Amino acid sequence: MKFELKSTVKFSSEIEEAKGLIEDLMERANQDLLKRGVPKDIEQGGAEVIDFSVDGDELFVHILSDRYVRAHDALLRLKKSLNQELGPEYHVGVREIEVVEYLIEFILDREAREDFSLPYVDEIEIREKDCRLFLSELNEEQLKKNYVDRIIQRVREKVDAQYYEGKDEMWKLIWESDRKEMVWEEDPTEKMDERGWIKRGPTKGKWFYRPRGAKLLKTFEKIAIEEVLKPLGFQEVIESMMVPFEVWIQTGHMEGIPNEAYYISEPVTRDPEEWEDVVDEIKITREVPEDKLEKMTETPKAGVCYAQCPLIYWSLRNETIADESLPVLVYEKTVPSTRYESGGRQGIERVDEFHRIEPVYIGTKEQLLKLKEDLISRYKHVFNEIMDIEWRMAQVEPFYLQQAGTGEVEEEEGLGTIDFEAYLPYRGSREESEWLEFGNLSIFSKYTEEFNIKSQSQDEKLLSGCTGIGIERWAAAFLAQKGLDPENWPTSFKDHFGEMPEGIKLL
Ligand code: ATP
Ligand code: ZN
Ligand code: MG
Repeated sequence: MKFELKSTVKFSSEIEEAKGLIEDLMERANQDLLKRGVPKDIEQGGAEVIDFSVDGDELFVHILSDRYVRAHDALLRLKKSLNQELGPEYHVGVREIEVVEYLIEFILDREAREDFSLPYVDEIEIREKDCRLFLSELNEEQLKKNYVDRIIQRVREKVDAQYYEGKDEMWKLIWESDRKEMVWEEDPTEKMDERGWIKRGPTKGKWFYRPRGAKLLKTFEKIAIEEVLKPLGFQEVIESMMVPFEVWIQTGHMEGIPNEAYYISEPVTRDPEEWEDVVDEIKITREVPEDKLEKMTETPKAGVCYAQCPLIYWSLRNETIADESLPVLVYEKTVPSTRYESGGRQGIERVDEFHRIEPVYIGTKEQLLKLKEDLISRYKHVFNEIMDIEWRMAQVEPFYLQQAGTGEVEEEEGLGTIDFEAYLPYRGSREESEWLEFGNLSIFSKYTEEFNIKSQSQDEKLLSGCTGIGIERWAAAFLAQKGLDPENWPTSFKDHFGEMPEGIKLL
């Protein structure tokens, strides 16, 4: 790796008189200050000022370095030293640092397949595996905040991404149920719609659940709570539906799913007078004036819940959990999840707003591996004995995580994600059709770290995880296999369901 930085350091006043001291300081820095942190066995490592000049109140420096002391870090060290040494004697200080030209050279793991650009980078030049970045826009604050490292990391990620585009996720079958008899091959959403159990809309990817549809969803919710969560000791929590970006940055959602999130904007003011013009327009046109509304609303700073776990982690940020409360077992079922599914929308199973119970657990590795077994056995009880459906479990990992080498992959045994998938006969044969992911279960090491959640004894690191209980998807899986007639439903399910609601007769 090579870093070559040309920079102008602006002082509070003339520094011509201090030329001698500056020269001396640069010499000393090249011997010591800019070599600190270089491993002992590396000869001639670190950074070096290869040229400098003074002009009025400006010092121009040209620094060359390797990865041990990156040139911009060398510059920041020089700034400190210049302030310390010039201050007392010449009563001057550094006002501003300006990057004139910053060239960074490094070798990629593999060749880029296509050109790309990045913010803050003037030019990216890639020849085979050699990569050269030209930067000039970064200010001191941005250099201090490590933008440079993240830019390099992002370049590597983008090149890696060119290799996994269009490829599948890692998928490994770990268990499958017996084959079950299917009562029909219809799409249950269409049939429920026809029978008036549900109604499409009012906007894209939404459904209105009339009494019969609602009772179905509520039954699955009840089964999940009574048969999975209560027996294992989970406690209910209630969170907000609005998630500030700051939390999504911590969980990684902000960079992972910005294209699927729904955003929230606040009114710029609550003063009715300022809204009067908008109201007048609505009264006259019976439409909302979009341009005026845009002026009256803020740029979003939060999104609508995508999954409930981020705010659960946030609620425990920087907390130390008493040993007696470990493992923490909670679930959230009040807040719906929203996702912009766009062209992928389908039936009740892929919608823009859905109901999910999200249990979250935090504990030692031993506790969570035990919990995982317990959860799976409770789930098996529900899917096999109560719903009696044909389903399977697979270990999955998104392809980009396998390839990117970003350190996000959960390589430890037992960690990672398991998907639960159900066969949907209306989609075709078992072998060829896509099964529906109706739930999943994960254990991670990153969230407890990111949110700094600690245990009382602190000698063992805490892990966390969540398991998504997608109510619409449980319903879709069940109905696709068992149909809409309670006569064909397993007795165990009918017991939980009870009487079919009368519904509303529409003429
Ligand atoms: P998919 O790959 O099907 O989009 P996902 O990986 O995005 O699913 P997760 O983020 O793991 O799903 O969400 C957990 C659970 O939430 C899923 O197992 C599923 O039950 C449910 N779910 C996710 N997206 C939707 C949706 N658009 N409509 C209904 N339920 C959903
Ligand atoms: Zn989650
Ligand atoms: Mg999805």
